[in-house]
Amino acid sequence: MRGAETIRDIVERLEKPLRLEAKRGYANRSAINGLSAYAGEWARKGEHLGHTPRMREQFAAIGRQLAGYDVADVQARERMVAQALRALEAVRAMDDDPAAAAQGQAEPAVRGGRAPSGAAGEAAPGREAGRPPSTVPGATTKQSTRPPRTSRAGADWRELDAPYEGASKTKPAQWVGRLPNLGIQTKRDLLFHFPRDYVPYRRITEVHDGERVCLRVTAVQRDVSVVRRSGRNLVRRYALEVADETGKAWVTSFVSGPSGRRLAQWNPLTLPYDPGAKLFLEGTVKEWYGSVELQYLDGSTDIWADDLAPGQLVPVYPLTEGVYQTQLRRAIKGLLDRYARDAPETLPEPLRREHRLAGIGEALVNIHWPRDEAAMARARHRLAFEEFLALQLALAQRKSEREAPGLGMRLVPRGDLIARVEEKLPFSLTGAQRRVIGEIVNDMSSDRPMNRLLQGDVGSGKTLVAVAAMIAAVDNDCQAALMAPTEILAEQHYLVLSKLLPSFGINVELLIGAVKKREKERICERVRSGETPVVVGTHALIQEGVDFKRLGIAVVDEQHRFGVVQRAALRNKGSNPELLVMTATPIPRTLALTVYGDLDVSALDEMPPGRKAVATQWLPTQGLNEAYAFVREQVRQGRQAYVVCPLIEESEKLEAEAAVRLYEELRTQVFPDLRLGLLHGRMSTAEKDAAMESLRARETDILVATTVIEVGMDIPNASVMLVLNAERFGLAQLHQLRGRVGRSTHQSHCILVTDARYNPNWRSAGDDPLQETRQRIRVMVEENDGFVIAEEDLLLRGPGEFYGTRQHGLPDFRLARVGQDVALLEEARQAAFGLIEHDPDLSRPEHRLLRERVQDMRRRMDETAP
Ligand code: ADP
Ligand code: MG
Repeated sequence: MRGAETIRDIVERLEKPLRLEAKRGYANRSAINGLSAYAGEWARKGEHLGHTPRMREQFAAIGRQLAGYDVADVQARERMVAQALRALEAVRAMDDDPAAAAQGQAEPAVRGGRAPSGAAGEAAPGREAGRPPSTVPGATTKQSTRPPRTSRAGADWRELDAPYEGASKTKPAQWVGRLPNLGIQTKRDLLFHFPRDYVPYRRITEVHDGERVCLRVTAVQRDVSVVRRSGRNLVRRYALEVADETGKAWVTSFVSGPSGRRLAQWNPLTLPYDPGAKLFLEGTVKEWYGSVELQYLDGSTDIWADDLAPGQLVPVYPLTEGVYQTQLRRAIKGLLDRYARDAPETLPEPLRREHRLAGIGEALVNIHWPRDEAAMARARHRLAFEEFLALQLALAQRKSEREAPGLGMRLVPRGDLIARVEEKLPFSLTGAQRRVIGEIVNDMSSDRPMNRLLQGDVGSGKTLVAVAAMIAAVDNDCQAALMAPTEILAEQHYLVLSKLLPSFGINVELLIGAVKKREKERICERVRSGETPVVVGTHALIQEGVDFKRLGIAVVDEQHRFGVVQRAALRNKGSNPELLVMTATPIPRTLALTVYGDLDVSALDEMPPGRKAVATQWLPTQGLNEAYAFVREQVRQGRQAYVVCPLIEESEKLEAEAAVRLYEELRTQVFPDLRLGLLHGRMSTAEKDAAMESLRARETDILVATTVIEVGMDIPNASVMLVLNAERFGLAQLHQLRGRVGRSTHQSHCILVTDARYNPNWRSAGDDPLQETRQRIRVMVEENDGFVIAEEDLLLRGPGEFYGTRQHGLPDFRLARVGQDVALLEEARQAAFGLIEHDPDLSRPEHRLLRERVQDMRRRMDETAP
């Protein structure tokens, strides 16, 4: 061990395992011989080295406290760690600022049973002497020597853009240094750090059994007793009798420890308060006949709640390691007192009146410290509206900038486009296809660039719509690009296009990663010179070196697989080309209004004629042989089948290995007489091509595959989709997989195999964790409509998960809930588009703050895009 440790070293030595403990759930795994021994040793060193009696006392207190760590329960450990960390913080402050420590203003942040202390552990109190006075009620009761408060009237809202530095003037307290982990840099950020929940402040006689409450009380007396013995351990109950103006209650906390020791008179670790202390406590109520018990959660001796009315809600903030509820409550209350009254109003008066919105000051106060539920709801409504409005304004601006008249090309197709396309097809287009092609032609013919989202369920015939749009571009001597998320899908499109387009005199090239370098260079050259009019590809299309002579239209297939940035990258390969993005997973209303809110939407809501709904069925694993027999029968009738092996999201390699194993098993044992194929993500492009080609040529009866077939596979003769371990797939994925069959007039089948416990017909009560999976399978069995499935998916997964929304440019809202607040979202959207119509760039003086808010939103949207 090193000889010359400094105080700083010792603080660090102690701090590290404490933080580790917090991370590891207080399992006492951070020091080899247990935290008690480790901390004791370092605390003794600190005690020995400490510069001042106070510092030495802090170390001694840490040692005393953590002595019981090994035998304490998790709750008590959590508290011990928190207090020890506060004590260390105080030590560090004293070490940085010996003068303050020597002046003796620093009280021990660890409150032992002996000395009642009013200072909570925010910053080292000794260093607060010079801080700007706080106006938080009660917070300053102990600092009567401070200068009087400055007047509120002078508060300048612009100060809020300064970093939040806490109460200390010299050096911010440690917890303040951790605020960036909560995304908080400035005072404004802190003011907009909204509660995630509320706890009511109540008087003792007004509490209800089981509720979480805050009490404002005076400690009366203490009591400790043994309540349970198990082996060598005792469970002790520490109780503190408290009273407010209405009655009395017992606050309790339980700690277990070895029986060998003498029963401590009082354990200062759990309820560190002395009789007479004024307390603000938080806990869960248990009502007994004739008495009230509060199971202790948190407490402080800072009575900053003097101006609370009974029933009022106390905020519960999202926290991060090393930042405590009390610290945030106090800091934010301070900012509110100082700034809320003069908060500048973002939303102009007429808008507020029209939508009945609270003013900003009122909203801020009531979102943090609401009088009651109604006030909180009103505040939330206003602030959520503002978030949605900013988003919608950002979208509206982006849209109007991008679609400004004169910015785009007028691409008018030659003659009757629909008739020309149909002439080359063995069938006629559906009504929906004609309508959508009409909408697209309209967009393309105008001088505003098109930004259109085409949604149509799997198999609805989107490819042909894209083909028509591309022909219209080439009609005008422009080029067209079609980007797909996988090589298989790109090749599939290439195949369709190179069958159809040459009859229009249009050449198609394929550009994917697997194309050889020399060949790639030649393709790029032909694309650059304009010799190649249509190019299909993967991400390879948006790479550097791919330049178009004159890109007229960019088509993105399976849009949800790409991010905003990739969409933009393809668009930027030309100068304001038309943009058509296509998706097979219908987008719920809320997402259409947010993630895709700057696009116009077309829907292919009609299937080509003769399609039969895919019959979907669930089978328990025990019934797998039945499924195999069914596959065999379908093959005998001339159909083909897919067998999808279990999803292994973590590793494509493992997934591929599993696919190979399944393939071998089926080939040698189950279907030795049939022709089996294999397709997985780890195969080379040539191998994949061969597998696809063989399937298409009907030389493969059964394709064993991973999810790589999820998008794009178009083999109309395939009639069975057998999915193993279907419980591992999401709803959207299952729907996509099912969409690989049912692409002709043959009746098709989808069989979902899972362990019997996922039986979709079981409806267990309550929060059975398997219930969500059963629900997913049930939806698949009962529902064929992709739209309904997408809505279900959104409900089951929430908007954040859905498509990985966050990857697609939707900023995090603080209050607005994209899934639930649909009405509010629609209202904000209307308001936004109305505002933009009259003041496109929000340049009117009354819109100045709103404009800044929108700029900020646009920045956040660009940042959240991948
Ligand atoms: P998706 O919308 O899933 O991309 P595709 O464009 O791949 O659908 O079309 C699915 C299948 O339906 C293809 O085999 C295509 O040739 C066929 N198809 C497209 N339109 C029609 C139509 N109007 N009538 C009959 N079959 C059609
Ligand atoms: Mg498609």
